[in-house]
Amino acid sequence: MFDFHLHSTVSFDGSGTPQQMVDAAARAGLKEICFTDHVDYNSDPNVAPRLFTVEDYHAAYDDLRADGVIIRRGFEFGLTRWNQPHLAALLAQRPFDFVIGSLHFVDGFDPYDLDFWNGKTPKQAFTRCFDETLECVRRHRDFDVLGHLTYVCKSEHNPTHEAALYRDYREVSDEIMKVLIANGKGMEINTSGIDRCNAFLPSADYLRRFKELGGEIVTVGSDAHAPGRVGQYTAEALELLRDIFGYVCTFADRKPVFHKL
Ligand SMILES: [Zn+2]
Ligand SMILES: [Zn+2]
Repeated sequence: MFDFHLHSTVSFDGSGTPQQMVDAAARAGLKEICFTDHVDYNSDPNVAPRLFTVEDYHAAYDDLRADGVIIRRGFEFGLTRWNQPHLAALLAQRPFDFVIGSLHFVDGFDPYDLDFWNGKTPKQAFTRCFDETLECVRRHRDFDVLGHLTYVCKSEHNPTHEAALYRDYREVSDEIMKVLIANGKGMEINTSGIDRCNAFLPSADYLRRFKELGGEIVTVGSDAHAPGRVGQYTAEALELLRDIFGYVCTFADRKPVFHKL
């Protein structure tokens, strides 16, 4: 009933118009959705960013309506070690409901791509991404939830096609989660890993540990880039959250709203 991670054609890689995505949400029976289009910076500051203009954003979403579906407006910000001022500047330009902070570039490459995986074992690839995630969450304050921790696992270049287990990355995962909790940030369950590595990003073991450490804010998103994927596996993710937390969060005006499950 909630999907808080959606990309429309406002994102450089989205294929559904805002209206098509909203119609798909209504068909999927979702009650509340949030558009989270890309604002992406390479870890190498010399590479051009991939982002929307606020003018395009206003035009795409400000008059968008759907019967029975609450529409929130956010974005997915690609965290790097150096782009905190760019996040603050965008937030000053218009109001948003929700900001996902995600790691999309490590050492100049998207961890999804072969260039990143070249010469690395899964353990090396996963460790490099966890370490960089920790560096980024330590440096950023202006996002609301960490998007798809363990994103690298769903790459088609991951030879095992398996997700990283919490127990194998306990130390660095704990550090990441402790920083999030200390800064009042949440974690997303991203359902796009189910088809690629048979796991939520991150999987239940991380979420249980997040709760154990005192984490409270949890959201669910499909990361759909096309209408056919809107709401995909979100019901299953909510079931998991019902068992672990008993609720799920949405966001409005950058504040979490808790929904009992
Ligand atoms: Zn992402
Ligand atoms: Zn996304």
